[in-house]
Order: sequence, then C-alpha cells, then structure tokens
Amino acid sequence: MTANSKDDSNLSLSTDYRPLELEKEVREFWEKSQIRDQLEQREKDAKGVLGYVEGPPTLNGIPHIGHARGRVMKDIRYRWKTMQGYYVPFWAGWDCQGLPVELEVEKLLGVKNKRELLERVGEERFIEECKKVILKYHKLWVEADRLLGIFINQKKAYWTYLDTYIEREWQYLKHAWDQNLLEEGHYVVAYCPGCQTSLSSAEVGYEGSYKDVEDPSLYFKFKKAGTPNEFFLVWTTMPFTIITDTMLAVKPDAEYVKVKVDNEQWIMVKQRVEAVMQELGITKYTVTETTQGKNLEGTKYDYPLKDIIPAQTELETRHALVHTVIGEDFVDVNTATGVVHLSPGNGEEDFWAAQKRGVPVFAPYDDEVKFTREAGVFNGVFARDADYLVVEELRNRNAFVAVKKVTHEYPTCWRSHHKLVWLARKEYFLRTDKINSKVLEAAEKIEYYFDEPKNRFIAFLKEGKPWCISRERVWGTPLPMWTCQKCGAKRLIASKKELTENALEQVPENFELHKPWVDRVTLKCPKCGGVMHREDYVLDTWHNSGASPYARFTDPEYAKFVPTDFLTEGIDQTRGWANSLLLEHVILTGKPEAPYHAFLFQGLTQDAKGRKMSKSLGNILETSKLLGKYSADLCRFYMMRKCSPIDFMNFDLQELNRRPYQVLSTLYHLSRFFLQNAEFDKFNPAKFTLERATQKKQLKDADRWLLSKLQGKMEEYTAKLERSEFNFAVAILEDFVIDTLSRLYVPMIRKELWTDDPETFERRQTIYAVLHYTLKTVTLLSNPVTPYLSEALYRKIYKKLNSTLPASINLEPWPVPDSSMRDKNIEEEFDILFTSVSLAYAARQQAKLKRRWPLSKIIVVAPKKTNQALKNQEPLFLEMVNVKTAEYAPQVPEYVGGENWVSASEGNMYVFVSGQRDDKLLGEGLMRDLARRVQALRKDLGFVPTDVLDAVHIAELDEDSKRLLEPFLEEIAELVRTKKVYLHDSRNEVDAEWHESKLDGKRVYLNIH
Ligand SMILES: [Zn+2]
Ligand SMILES: [Zn+2]
Repeated sequence: MTANSKDDSNLSLSTDYRPLELEKEVREFWEKSQIRDQLEQREKDAKGVLGYVEGPPTLNGIPHIGHARGRVMKDIRYRWKTMQGYYVPFWAGWDCQGLPVELEVEKLLGVKNKRELLERVGEERFIEECKKVILKYHKLWVEADRLLGIFINQKKAYWTYLDTYIEREWQYLKHAWDQNLLEEGHYVVAYCPGCQTSLSSAEVGYEGSYKDVEDPSLYFKFKKAGTPNEFFLVWTTMPFTIITDTMLAVKPDAEYVKVKVDNEQWIMVKQRVEAVMQELGITKYTVTETTQGKNLEGTKYDYPLKDIIPAQTELETRHALVHTVIGEDFVDVNTATGVVHLSPGNGEEDFWAAQKRGVPVFAPYDDEVKFTREAGVFNGVFARDADYLVVEELRNRNAFVAVKKVTHEYPTCWRSHHKLVWLARKEYFLRTDKINSKVLEAAEKIEYYFDEPKNRFIAFLKEGKPWCISRERVWGTPLPMWTCQKCGAKRLIASKKELTENALEQVPENFELHKPWVDRVTLKCPKCGGVMHREDYVLDTWHNSGASPYARFTDPEYAKFVPTDFLTEGIDQTRGWANSLLLEHVILTGKPEAPYHAFLFQGLTQDAKGRKMSKSLGNILETSKLLGKYSADLCRFYMMRKCSPIDFMNFDLQELNRRPYQVLSTLYHLSRFFLQNAEFDKFNPAKFTLERATQKKQLKDADRWLLSKLQGKMEEYTAKLERSEFNFAVAILEDFVIDTLSRLYVPMIRKELWTDDPETFERRQTIYAVLHYTLKTVTLLSNPVTPYLSEALYRKIYKKLNSTLPASINLEPWPVPDSSMRDKNIEEEFDILFTSVSLAYAARQQAKLKRRWPLSKIIVVAPKKTNQALKNQEPLFLEMVNVKTAEYAPQVPEYVGGENWVSASEGNMYVFVSGQRDDKLLGEGLMRDLARRVQALRKDLGFVPTDVLDAVHIAELDEDSKRLLEPFLEEIAELVRTKKVYLHDSRNEVDAEWHESKLDGKRVYLNIH
C-alpha cells in the first residue's frame, strides 16, 4: 500500500464542509489511482453485462447545464449498477457530422450559404475546418465531464465521422437495400431555403420549430370553364403555390352552394358561407343553388396565369385532370371555403392526390427555392418573395378577392429558422412506412418509466412516414449509391474495400469516406459497362448517430451489448435519436426489436424563470464555468432532487446553497462527529461489529429502530432508482440524513458519548458500530448521486478505520437490506413515541414552557396499544419530553384541568403536561439554559467536544436564580465537561475575559478556560 501513503496524509476532515476543495482532491485521487480504469478491468468478474451506447452529443457547442442534467442521470445508473456488480460499457461517443456542425463552421468562416461555401472555401478545406471544430468542442466536453464527475470512459469513445464507423453505418443501408426499403423517388419534402437541404419529417416537428410568422391571407377565385360569371372561391396563405397550381379539390360528401355576390356566383362549401362573407365584409349576398361536392368533380376551371406561365398550358396537354376539380376526403370543410387548390409540387397531400391519378408534378425550383425558367415571368424569384407578385397578377385578371395579413404558427427550420417550403424533389428514402407494424411492436416492448413520454413517442412512430435520408450537404456520411450514367443501374457499396476494389481508377492514399474524395471514385456498370457516379448526397445526421449500436462496436461487442439495457436522452429525442435507433435496428435485424430495453426521456432544463436557455437571451449556464464556482455534488444533488427526470426543470443557482447544501453538510458533519468520537475511543470496526453487539445484546431500542429504518430505506431507495424516480430516491436519502439520523437518532445517543467512563466503554463501542454501519451505508447509497463527497467520506473515515477496504468507494458492493435487522414493531413503537413527543412540545409551546425546562408530569390519554408502546419506551419517552413522571390512561383523569395543565392532541392521542414548577424544577431548568450557553461558548472559542475545561465562571445572576442554581452546580459541571463551576456576584471578582449572554431578558456573564 505504499502507493497510497501520500494520500493518507490528506485523510482528515476539515471543520467545515468545503465541497470545492474536497472535490479537487477527490478528482486528483481518481486520476492518479486510475479508478475508472480499474472498473473497466472488472468485466470478467461481473455478475452480468448491461449494454450501453452513449447518445452522442453533437460537437458544435459548449456543454451547458441542460446537458449536465442528462449526463448525471447516466452516471448515476453507471455507478450504481457497477456497485451492484454489473459490467456496463459506459464509453463515450461523439456526434461529429451533419448540418449542426456545418452551420457552426459556416458561421466561423463567415459564409452565408452553400453556394458561397463551395465557391469560396471548397469541400476539402471545409471538411478540414469541420474536423478542427469538433476537436475544439471535444476538449470542452471532456473537461465538463471531468468536473461533473461523469465516469464515462473517454478513451473508448466512438466518433461518427471515422471511416470504420461509416463502413458499419453503411451496413444498415445494405440491409435496407436488400429488403427493398431504400428507394429513390420524387417526394414532397420539407426543404430549408437557408440550409439548402431537405429535412426529415421528424426534424419538422422539433420542439420550438413552429413559430408565429406573418403570411398573406388571400381569397382568390378561379372561373368555372365555359361560364361567364361562376367562380370557385379559394383561400391560401401561400400565394406562390398558385404558380404550381394543378387541380382544385372538394369534399365529396359535403354540401356546396353558389353564393350570389354582385353579378357573380361563387362556389364554396355551404357551412362556411356566413363566416367567409363576414370575413370578407360582404353583407349583400344570396345563396342560390345547393349541390353535393361529388357533383362538382370533373368540372374544369380556367387557370388565370397561363399567359405569364406558358408551362401551365403545356401541363394541360399532359393530363386531362389538370385544372379540374377532384374529390378528396382530406379537404377540411370547417375552415376557409371548402375548396382547396392543389400544388403537387408544393404539398404532401397534393402530391399523393396527383400521384394516384397519374397527374404530372410541376415543381419549377432550383436549390435555393428560386423559380426556374419554367415558371415564366417568375423565373429567378425566391418562392416566398413571389407571394405578392402573384397577388398583383391575380388582381389584374379578375381572380383576386381580398388579401389581409395573418399571423399563424408555421414550421421553420430548427437550425436556421427559415420558413420551410414543401417541395417535390428527387431524394433517397427509407421506406419505414413499410415496416411500421414491426417498429410499433418493438416500441411497445420498451420500458419508458413514465406514460407521458411513452405516449408521445408511440404517437409519433404511428405517423410511420417514409424517412427521407438524403441531404444535399457536404460533411456527412456519403450515400454509398452509384448510378450508371448510361443505363441508370444502381449499385450500393457497403465497405471501403468493396469500393476500392471496384474503382475504375487508382484510389489515392489519403482517401477517406467523405466528400469530395469519395465522389471522385467511379465504378464500371455491371449491366452495360458504362461509368457509374456516386449520387451526390450525404446521409441525414440522425441516420449517422442512429447507427451507433452496430457502428460503434466490433461484432463480438455488438453481440454482447446490444440490445442495450438502458438509455436516456432529452424528450426532444423522441423524433431524434430514439427514433432513428429504433428504425435502423428494425431494418438491420429484420425483427420487431429495439436496440434498447429501456429509454428514459428527460425533460429539458430552463433558466430560473422558466425560459429556454438560448444564446440570444444570454442565459446559458456553461457547465465548466459553473463548476469553477459551484460544487459538482451540490449541482448533481440539486438537479436530481428538484423534480422528476421527465419534468422541465428551472435551474436556479440561488437554490443550490440552500437545501442541497444543508443535506450534504449535515451528512458531512454527522460523519465527522462519528469519526471524532470513534477515534477518541479508538474504535475498531473489525472488532466492534454489529454482529457482536447483537450477540451480546448490547443494542438498545433506539439502535434497533435506526437499523430497522435503514433496511427499509435501502430497499425503497434502490427501487426508486430502478424506476428512474431519481427525485424520490434522493428525497429518501435526504429524509434519512436530516430527520432520522440527525434530528432523531443522534440526540438520543449523544449524551452516552459524552463520558469517557470505562464502565460505559462497551456501550460507546456499540453506538460506534451502529453509526459506522449506518453512515457507511448512507455514504455508499449516496455515491451515484454525490460521488465526490461519498468518496471523500469513504476514504477519510471507513478506509482510514479499515485499511483492508478497496481503494475507492466505487469498488464497493451496493448495500443490500438485511431482513434480520428489520423490526416493524419497533418502528411502530417509535412512530408513536415521536408523535407523543411532538404533542408534548406543542402543549409546552402554548404555555411558553421551554423544552429545556424539566416538568413534573405528563399524562397520555390514548388506546391501549399506544399506551403500551410508550410504556415500553418510557425512559426514552421521559427523557425526550423532559418530564419526570408519566401516566397512561384510557380516558382523561378527573384531577386534570385548570390553568396548570396544557394539552395537545392528534387522532385519538391526547397529551397533558403539568406546567407547575417547584424550586427544584426551576433550578434544573435554569441550569440547562446556562449549560446550553456554555456549550455554545465552548464551540465559539474553538474547544473540541472531547476537551475537558478547567473552570466555568458565571457572574451577576440575581439572588433568586443563584439560590435555585446552587444544588445543580455539580450536574452542570458534568454537562459542560468542566472540572468546576463558580458563581460570582460581580464580574470584578475575577480578572477574566467575560462574555455577555442573555437569560430570559436578563444579562449574565460567562468565562470559561
Ligand atoms: Zn435551415
Ligand atoms: Zn449501365
């Protein structure tokens, strides 16, 4: 043990709980002694393996307190399960690619959009910059983990951008391709004009992506073909889509009417007439004809902008249904006019309505969502900028009715906050809609701990939309699809080896599986011998991280660790990682199975006022900065204790030093109190064990009560952790430390430790055995939550008292309850005891009788069982209520009553206390008041509790008080651990430093030495 000898010199507990110093010391110990590495070695001796895959944080920003909260939950699980004897591959992982990183780099490079990026920077340099950025943030994350005490293995981290990872990610696509689940096609996707890439449907629904935006609210009319004055009345908030208009739709089973306004007949749904006319400010109108929606199907209308968009005329020649009314059940007749215009190039439902009828899709857009030449006069105009141009053109052609501005919720890009545009584009899709039943079956088998996030996740999965995985970006896993330029044949490549072996040209040495290098590799078409080029896409970054269960492990590891035991991430990951993990795993295995058995969705963390933390509000609490000033243990305790893990948490720095500090400080001081006394009595835990005390029948009822309580709490605590109810678990610890130990048990035994009488030596050793076992157990149970304090107490107390213990608390086994120590009867008796004591206190308070003042009699009126319990505990009862005698009765005795008695009651228990005090009781009360002041003075002057004083001088008590006190001078001397107590009429009698004190409003002077 020579290696540890230097640490041992540090093994003392400072007078105060100073968490920052203590944590620094513990951190150094962990690092120097490589405790984390030692845990990694224990796989072979483990009682089982619990798989784990780290949900990789994206390396595009500084870790903040919201991240910290989730990481603490992971760490709790790791430390606790490890102590239980399991092996958990708690290895780090980093999300390195994708749009979030690209945007961060674009910002650093001062590039506004993708075109500028490619022209000014170029792909090669851009990728180098991306790598630099992730390394920069990686350092910050590792440091934050270190300070927070996260025991994740940083050395075994996975990086999603490495070739080895990407190759294994490709395996998922290979499985999809083989099962016909990977398809290329035109689909309507949400597209961000800012990021210039499509988004998955999951991304569209992200928290906070719906924003209130202002749009035009336009009523317009399309003339029914062949009529002079009949029009379909239509409403839209996206006038630009009129450029790509292809059909109108009505609801077949709804009633439609013609409304006569001036000289025109407007066709719309009947139930909306009144509301729409009111909105348009039209008071003079009459409803003329009524018909079913289905009777309108097949009606042609005159598309009004043909003269400025020639392609629209050409469109009519391609399909008979172009510019015709069709019937669709999705038409909503509760809003607008019940007639909707369809732009298959700009809407998902519109697209499907066109697809199933074979109607062509008109989508004249470039990558920046500007109209192309096909859009006629709108060529070069950005889609959303065309809105008011379209309104003007309608106005010129008698197709305009009214326009206003409307503020409504509209999806924006979760990254760049541009308004999204729905566009038909050529993309690659995972047809996850085809495997939806398997996905749902797998999802039902997962443990979510709480219903609310579960329901949310399942509801999202039920949407079951195809997953658009292609992204028109640069820094990502390349889509490994090569297409023949001649015959269109496709080939999916699943490894680097396969690629290099089939390449037409020599692959350069610095070749890596990224753009632009991978784009330069061409293949020979196996069908026609033509040249195959890679499809110019990278993968959705969620596909990248969702591949981690297979991609981050080797084959044997994957077999051992997947499905994983427990994962936890933020509630926003319902649509993110939790989703992509599940979908990909079902594709990979072909089975209705998730890659995780349990998933805890955490609530997000907000600032003290409940606002989202954001750069613009400047309210982000960076983990490392915060932990430079505040204790990691306090933060951990606070975050776990404050609310349920699924709740949104308002993080308030002011609260850290209140209750959390009180609890940890109490545990610290109780432990120190134990150690000081135990060392004074040379307590040897190996000799004075609980077993010995039990055998020798040295345990008193208070000890047995405490030990029994502890068994129950141990069980409850572990069960709460198992249920991920961290807040309730921590509350159990808190309650045990503050109430059971500090407020109830220690006062019951404190006096027994005051004497160093050899006769009570055995009894003191028994108390040490009880405290040793109890405090050590509490320290072990606290370790997952407050690992620094727990390690410090472990080493400075338990390891110090017994050098054969393991070097670190993390190498200790998890405490298990011992049923032989459980005694429900004694717990019940003590519950009764504490209730009656608090009733006695309440009664005293009414007559302002201090607890320290002894009283002559207490009467308990209660059922037999209650009275018997108190009789069993009578010595303790009398001591706690500070009364000389007790009487137990089934009903109130006749002599009780009048002003000498005070009482209090709860349920069927009544307590009466006699307030009458004779000289003896008055003297004893006075003695106790004075003793308390002397004790406080001892502490202020820095005396250790075990020190014995030479003398205590008390001066200037009044005559009556002196008379009352005289008989108690010996007793007070013993109480305050002093050789002798002197009373003086005046301070002048002794030349000493006097300390003024107040006793019931009168001055009294004390001197001790
Ligand atoms: Zn964007
Ligand atoms: Zn070919």
